[in-house]
Parts: sequence; C-alpha cells; structure tokens
Amino acid sequence: MANALQWIDSHAHLTDSTFTAVDSLLQRAQHAGVRSVINICTSISTLNAGLELAKNYPWIYNAAATPPHDVEKEGENVFAVIARHARKGHLVAIGETGLDYHYYASSSAIQKDFLRRYFHLALECKLPVVIHCRNAFKDFFEILDKEYMSSNGKHHPGVLHCFTGTIEEAEQVIERGWYLSISGILTFKNSEELRQIVKRIPLEKLLIETDAPYLAPQTQRGKINEPAYIVETAQTIAQLKAISLKELADQTVRNACELFKIKI
Ligand SMILES: [Zn+2]
Repeated sequence: MANALQWIDSHAHLTDSTFTAVDSLLQRAQHAGVRSVINICTSISTLNAGLELAKNYPWIYNAAATPPHDVEKEGENVFAVIARHARKGHLVAIGETGLDYHYYASSSAIQKDFLRRYFHLALECKLPVVIHCRNAFKDFFEILDKEYMSSNGKHHPGVLHCFTGTIEEAEQVIERGWYLSISGILTFKNSEELRQIVKRIPLEKLLIETDAPYLAPQTQRGKINEPAYIVETAQTIAQLKAISLKELADQTVRNACELFKIKI
C-alpha cells in the first residue's frame, strides 16, 4: 500500500457530544486514508473523553483550550485542568484558543487575556498553538508578536485553523512561519475568494482539517461532518493548485507531523 493516499485531519472535535458512534466513524476515517486526527478538546469532559480515546487509538492526538466564545463563562476553571495535562505531556497542542469578534460571546478583554495565558502555557510546555480568529486579526497579530516570540526573533509555531481571512491576512500568518489550515468551507459555492487564496498559499504552509462535526463539505452539506470527508476538501485543493492528490497528501502529512511533532 506504499502508494496509498494518507491524510491527517488537523482539527476535529471527535469527543463532541454530537458523535455517538466514534468507533465506526474512525473506521470510515481509516478507509478514507486518514492516518491521524488532532482531536480538539474544548471542555473538561471532552478532554477526559479525548484522553480515553487516545488510549484505544494511538493515532488520535489531543489538543485542548477553552475556545474564545466560552472563556468568559468557563475559562478560569478549565485552564488549570488543561495546564496540568499539558505539563504532563498529554497534549500535542494548545487550542483552539484565539479571538472571535463576530459573535462576541465573551468580551474582547477577557478573550485577549486568555489568549495571552494560553500562549504562555504553550511556551512553557514547548507546544504549538491552534488558533481560531474571526474578525480580529489586528488584535491577534498584536498579541502574537508581543507574547509568542523566541529570543532569536522568530515566532513560536502555530496554525490558523479554518482559515477564511483575506490574502493579506494569509500572508501575514505565513510571514510568521505559521501554517494555515483549510476546512470544507473551501468547497462551498460562495467561497471563491478563499479558493483564490489557496492557490497562492505555499504547499509547505498548508494543513487540511474537517472541523467535524461542523462544516461538512459541499456534497455532504447539512450532514454531520466527519474526518472521512477530508478527501473532498483535499480534492478541491489539489485541483486549485494543479498538483496530484499524492503530492498534496504527502506534503500536508509532513507539515502536520512537523507542527504537532507526531509520526504516522
Ligand atoms: Zn474547531
């Protein structure tokens, strides 16, 4: 099977309560060529479930943080638990953290405070960060440039997940040595701007994700998304970049392995 396509789903919420039959879902993922999933835990219960899941499926890796929408309500309690697991080496990344000024479910001051704290935790534990950023790039880059630099003037590693920003924002992310992760939004009819951007993003800076159970790609729209559907987004990227699926698979797997320090 040396020529088989292999994928890493760089962002899925496998322990979200939406999923009731994770074993069969993971079987379908394996059939589709998914060799690893970064499971994004957003609460204490999803983190505990994620750590259990990883015991049975060593190819599932966990990341954790309270997402920006929820920090006001539960950020404080959850932070200590996540920090404990991060320090014990149970996580491959801190996230998804970030800023979301679209819904403003938490105030911007509190969102910024938690983003800084998660950056500091990631630095302490030598972990990359997974960032959710919506309508907030100016504040995000300001905090990133201040709080997440190494002594040699470079940025510590991270990924902008489910990227839907402008080409300028994409370039600013890449300038900092970061990755951009592309979700099924790319396949939606009205995502022409994103498709133009993906053409221009260097392959070496690209990750692919499902963000399951959210954002099922175009042909599955309305359904619950799952890691097996990563292939549709991948096909769209390969077409846009005029490269083979194999080249895309190999390079995006290399990228994810480098960022999350995992092996498949
Ligand atoms: Zn997510």
